[in-house]
Amino acid sequence: MARVAERLLEELRTMGNTAPARVFQAPGRVNLIGEHTDYNLGFVMPIALDLACTAAIAPRADGTLRIVSLNMGETHEVAAADLASLSPRKHWSDYVIGAAREVLALGFPISGADVVLESTVPVGAGLSSSAAIEVSTALAFLGGRSLDRMELVKLARRAENDFAGMPCGIMDQYISVFGEKGQAILIDCRDLGCEAVPLPYDVSIVAVNSMVKHELGSSAYANRVRECAEAVAVFDGRIGGIESLRDVNAEQFTHWDEYIPETPRRRARHVIGENERVLAFRDACERHDKPEMGSLFYRSHKSMRDDYEISCEEIDFLVETAMALEGCHGARMTGGGFGGCTVNLLRPDAVERFRSAMDGAYRKRFGITPVFYECHPAAGARELAIA
Ligand code: ADP
Ligand code: MG
Repeated sequence: MARVAERLLEELRTMGNTAPARVFQAPGRVNLIGEHTDYNLGFVMPIALDLACTAAIAPRADGTLRIVSLNMGETHEVAAADLASLSPRKHWSDYVIGAAREVLALGFPISGADVVLESTVPVGAGLSSSAAIEVSTALAFLGGRSLDRMELVKLARRAENDFAGMPCGIMDQYISVFGEKGQAILIDCRDLGCEAVPLPYDVSIVAVNSMVKHELGSSAYANRVRECAEAVAVFDGRIGGIESLRDVNAEQFTHWDEYIPETPRRRARHVIGENERVLAFRDACERHDKPEMGSLFYRSHKSMRDDYEISCEEIDFLVETAMALEGCHGARMTGGGFGGCTVNLLRPDAVERFRSAMDGAYRKRFGITPVFYECHPAAGARELAIA
């Protein structure tokens, strides 16, 4: 049995719960390219990581739902019977309660239980610790009752949208469920189809955590969603039949963009260009064209920085520093923005030098030690153990 499963089961026993238990795990992800395109029903290309949230569950007879995050060192208790009437608290437990409510809403009864979770996904770093917690706990609450995997994805997203209050798209939950070992996944966020994309064998993917997260993050995210909708309304008025930025191509954008106010226009330019970059990146992967893959990374970054305006000083510094290093094909911010991680495409023999150069430069400039993650595409959510 996996070490983490043993540890969580032990924790349940220490809490005095000796009932039969089950353990589920769901990964975080790094998005290679396609940022803020998911809620615009476009394309994204993430990989699931071997960083994951693990959740163990065992029933309780008293109807209490006791949720423990070992990372937070906190316990939160509610009555299972009250689930449907609870309100969010702006607390980490919202993600878990949100998942429980959605499982319940699909008609699966939830009774009292102890739920213990522990995650190796860095929290709030743009590697989707939130989807990892939603998917792993949703599976725990399902407790082996079968649910279509796409329904699981949608359920977990609703938990984040409707209870945790974050208007995110579907990418994070999708890749956490459908990740494949050794492959990136190109997701079409409109029809929810996907395609596994093998990455060239001689590229290493390294995420660098800036260790900063600027606070405007969540309100800025909602603003971007709204600004994109403003652009859609103008295109729809002019062209007709436009439901999302996915329906607008580059030619139409150039033809009509003068009718869109400045800010929504730049947001739309990012999204429309980014969709094209995702498809071009897939093609470049297939050709093993590393210079083009790297160039698409950097163009994506500049678009996020200048048009979508979701980067920040620390992230721009990490990207520029990486781009100047020998053996780095390309670098860009990944995740929602305003801090978090960059993702870098490296020649495998350059990884060690990259780490020490980036570490030295970032510490010198900001006095912060960055954290590095070598990213190997991993499989999606699964059950780890029954005990
Ligand atoms: P990201 O998904 O990029 O990591 P989010 O802001 O979407 O960032 O989600 C981070 C939030 O998810 C945290 O603030 C916390 O509420 C919750 N969370 C993630 N992992 C854990 C964990 N191990 N224990 C408790 N809460 C967690
Ligand atoms: Mg998240």
